[in-house]
Amino acid sequence: MTSAQCCVDETCYTCRYWREKSEWAANGDRVTDPSGIMNGAPVARVDGQHFILKPYDQTGDRQWLGFRGRELTFRFNDGREVVSNDVWSQGEIPTRFRERLPDNAVIVSQPQEVTT
Ligand SMILES: [Zn+2]
Repeated sequence: MTSAQCCVDETCYTCRYWREKSEWAANGDRVTDPSGIMNGAPVARVDGQHFILKPYDQTGDRQWLGFRGRELTFRFNDGREVVSNDVWSQGEIPTRFRERLPDNAVIVSQPQEVTT
């Protein structure tokens, strides 16, 4: 199976996974997960990688945070900047989904070294 040839009707696990992200993109680049804690969280796509930017975590317990609490600043194509220390990566967007999931942001901060 190559990235260009997957299942014909996009019903396999991988396709369903990325179809969900496509729905988020159509929802103004926000997670739609009405029963989940990530509902409404912004999503960023940078160099074909997909990220969920969870709200800035102030509890200080970094071990459970995305990227272990590294603070990242995302600048969206509309100029908006979102800072999060709880960024979750969903991995690389398959080529066949790139049209539906175009890059919408860049990372403007370098990841900070975090001492644990
Ligand atoms: Zn598929």
